[in-house]
Amino acid sequence: MDDVTARLLRVFQADRQLAGLQSRLRAAEAFHAEQVRQLTLIKAKTESVGTQVRQLAATAGNLENEIRSLDERIEHLRAQMNEARTNKEYKALLTEVNTHKADRERIEEEALGHMTRIDELKAQLAELAAQEADRDKVRKVAESERNAREAEIKDRVEQLKAERDALAREVPGDVMAMYARLLELRDEEAMAALEIADRKRHEYTCGACMMSLPMEIAISLLGGKLTLCPNCQCILYLTPETAGAITPASSKR
Ligand SMILES: [Zn+2]
Repeated sequence: MDDVTARLLRVFQADRQLAGLQSRLRAAEAFHAEQVRQLTLIKAKTESVGTQVRQLAATAGNLENEIRSLDERIEHLRAQMNEARTNKEYKALLTEVNTHKADRERIEEEALGHMTRIDELKAQLAELAAQEADRDKVRKVAESERNAREAEIKDRVEQLKAERDALAREVPGDVMAMYARLLELRDEEAMAALEIADRKRHEYTCGACMMSLPMEIAISLLGGKLTLCPNCQCILYLTPETAGAITPASSKR
């Protein structure tokens, strides 16, 4: 059976194969793009945590300077205390020392808080670095897979396209034009097999829309006519099994 439907079906099958090949490449590309996106997120987080560490370290550094100048001040006051001439003078100096010591304690506590936070953030940075290394490994694998898939299908795509064009030349131009419009609209449902719902009752359905088809459709297909589904307008075809099953016994052999 080599009617127009059978010839068109070979074009359709080549188109499905092409779409399948390219969808595998697209899936590999999407997977790679996702790895790149994840890496970008990790890098942005690393940058933000790094900035926090630098800011906290700068603040902690300022606090250390404050502590140092307080220490100098306290040392100076203590020297003065040793030379105090009156008890009142001594007590005034002592009060000032105690005030500075209290300030020092408060500042030291604040600086310690910053150091603790810096340690936490550094642990987070180490964790992020590990995540980045792992993600980058996955990204590299994804990249080589994508490239391999691209290279792998390149020849097959070219070969299939050439075969597909040769097959298309076997189909009348007006039928190809109609098929092209259908493909645009319905993609993988541009063509569908007629399916048998109940052979004895001659009940058939369209493989695309699943609506029931009158027996005349099956007869038209058996007669080799280009036949559309009256419901969804796809081009119907018979698989060899279906054709064998619905061919009247009398016409067999
Ligand atoms: Zn249909």
